[in-house]
Amino acid sequence: MPELPEVETVRRGLQPALEGARIVGVEARRPDLRFPFPERFSERLTGKTIAALGRRAKYLTMHVDNGPVLICHLGMSGSFRIETANESATPGAFHYERSKNTAHDHVVFDIVSPAGVRSRVIFNDPRRFGFMLFSEGEPDLHPMLAGLGVEPTGNALDGALLASLLKGRKSPLKAALLDQRLIAGLGNIYVSEALWRAGLSPLREAGTLARAGKKAKEQSESLAEAIRSVVADAIAAGGSSLRDYMQTDGSLGYFQHSFAVYDREGEACSKPGCRGHIERIVQSGRSTFHCRTCQA
Ligand code: ZN
Repeated sequence: MPELPEVETVRRGLQPALEGARIVGVEARRPDLRFPFPERFSERLTGKTIAALGRRAKYLTMHVDNGPVLICHLGMSGSFRIETANESATPGAFHYERSKNTAHDHVVFDIVSPAGVRSRVIFNDPRRFGFMLFSEGEPDLHPMLAGLGVEPTGNALDGALLASLLKGRKSPLKAALLDQRLIAGLGNIYVSEALWRAGLSPLREAGTLARAGKKAKEQSESLAEAIRSVVADAIAAGGSSLRDYMQTDGSLGYFQHSFAVYDREGEACSKPGCRGHIERIVQSGRSTFHCRTCQA
């Protein structure tokens, strides 16, 4: 499933093609994905100029002049492909292969750039858990987005804020970090990676990071820093892969090669001085990867 860094690399890949372009046609090839398409979906977008392509957590937001905001979620398997007269590119770096089977091309945006170049932006989604909805006003107020927590990008998430979010929580630290109402957009992969970087066990009680004293303060600061850095590194890796892909249409340098714990069950821990091994455990039905020796 695409996580926040993948969605952000998709956004950065689509942004140059979409921003400033005029939509000359939208074709939805079926009535629904995870949800039905909005009423008058094509009609309300056609003829509009795209002002901005944003992101909140794992949602893309396309703002058009004098029209609704399109909220798009990639679901489990959604991806975009940009096709111009002589090239095709799929922006973003994914842990799993993206489909190029045109039978799963469900939405096609026909756009014209300010320079007059025509291209097609195609949404492909084999499993159809993705969706597109309209927000009539500020997308942050849309019911889908309204309850979301702080973004793990930028400087908003620091040790003090993290401690206040975790205060009094009895749930395991991993479960708290996956709670989208606390921090928005973190998924299984990056939570495992961030906890390893911070040397904190996914099993420890979340509220312990909000206790009084120097140790808890250091731990919450270290974890906030680990979350921000793992997300930033993954976005940076996606960005570099994206450039390679655009130039050569070849294979991508996925961030998965940089995973320290995720999918590395049984391997030696790579933290300097640690002689432990990566273990896989199951928490709330999902795999957690950690090193029992250096994460406490
Ligand atoms: Zn270790």
